[in-house]
Amino acid sequence: MYGALHHASNLTIQMKQYSLLTIVLYLIGPILIIVSHIGSLLVFRTGLSWGAIAWILLLYFVRMLATTGIYHRLLTHKSYQAPALLLWIGCIVAASAGQMGPNWWKAHHMAHHQYSDQALDPHSPYTPDQGLKGFYWAQGGWLLSSRFFPDKLPSDVESDRVLQVIDRLHFIPLVALGAISYFIGGLEYLGAFFLSTTLLFHGVQTVNSLTHLIGDQPFVTDDHSRNSGFVAFLTLGEGWHNLHHAFQSSSRHGVTIRDGQVVYLLDPTFRFIKVLEFLKLASKLRLPSEKDLLAKAKKPKLA
Ligand SMILES: [Zn+2]
Ligand SMILES: [Zn+2]
Repeated sequence: MYGALHHASNLTIQMKQYSLLTIVLYLIGPILIIVSHIGSLLVFRTGLSWGAIAWILLLYFVRMLATTGIYHRLLTHKSYQAPALLLWIGCIVAASAGQMGPNWWKAHHMAHHQYSDQALDPHSPYTPDQGLKGFYWAQGGWLLSSRFFPDKLPSDVESDRVLQVIDRLHFIPLVALGAISYFIGGLEYLGAFFLSTTLLFHGVQTVNSLTHLIGDQPFVTDDHSRNSGFVAFLTLGEGWHNLHHAFQSSSRHGVTIRDGQVVYLLDPTFRFIKVLEFLKLASKLRLPSEKDLLAKAKKPKLA
C-alpha cells in the first residue's frame, strides 16, 4: 500500500513539471506503438509482396539510423558536431520511428547513463525486477509505467525552439509516414509500415534489455553493459554497448579488446557518421585513443 502511494506521489511530482497539453501529446506516443503492434496483423490479411518487404526493410534501416546516429550519438552524447539543420531533419526522421521526440529521448537516455542499472535507471533489466519480468520491463514495460515521463527535460534541448516543437509534435512524422505508406500501396503497405514500426521499436529496445544481459565485457564499467554482436546487427552498431558505457562520447561504438590488442568491429552507424564527415556535414568526431582504450580494458584473469 505504501509502495503504491509512494509511486502515485512520485508521479504527481513528475507531472507537475508538464503542462496538460504536453502530457496529452506525450501519451500519443505509446498509444501509436500499441496501434502499430495491432496494425501489423494487417499483413496476414493482405500478404506481403517483395515491394512491401523492401518497404519494411527500408523504413527500418533509415529510421534506425536516425535513432542511433542522430538521437543517440549526436543529440544526446554530442560525439560529433553537425549543422543545426541536419540535427533538426534527423530528429524529424527519428521521431517518425515512433519512439517519442528528441527532448523526451535525451532526458531518459541521460538518466540511463547517470544511474545505469541502479534504482533511478528508467529501463534496467535488473531493477525494479529481474529475470523475465526485468526483461519485459527493459523491453518496453517501463513505457507503460509512471517512468514514462522524464524527471526533467535537459535545458540545452529545451532552449532550442525547433527541437521543442519536434518533441511535442513527435507523432506527426510517424502518422505522416503511415499515410504515405497507405497512398503508395494501400492496406498492404500500411500493414508493412506498422510491422516495420513494431520491429524497429523492439529492435531499439533490445539495447535497453539484451545489452545489459548478454554479451562480453571487454571494458571496465560500473554497470552490466555488454557488447552483443546480435544486438549490434539489429541496431546498426549500437549493440557494442559495453564500449559505449566505457566511452560515452565516442562516435564509434564498435571496438573491443582481444589478446591485449584493440580490435574494431562492424559499426554501420559510425560508417554513416564518416559519410556525413566526407560530405562536410559532420566534424570533430570524438574517438578515444588506443592508449585510453587499453587503459580501460579488463585485465585478463590469472590462471
Ligand atoms: Zn546502457
Ligand atoms: Zn548512450
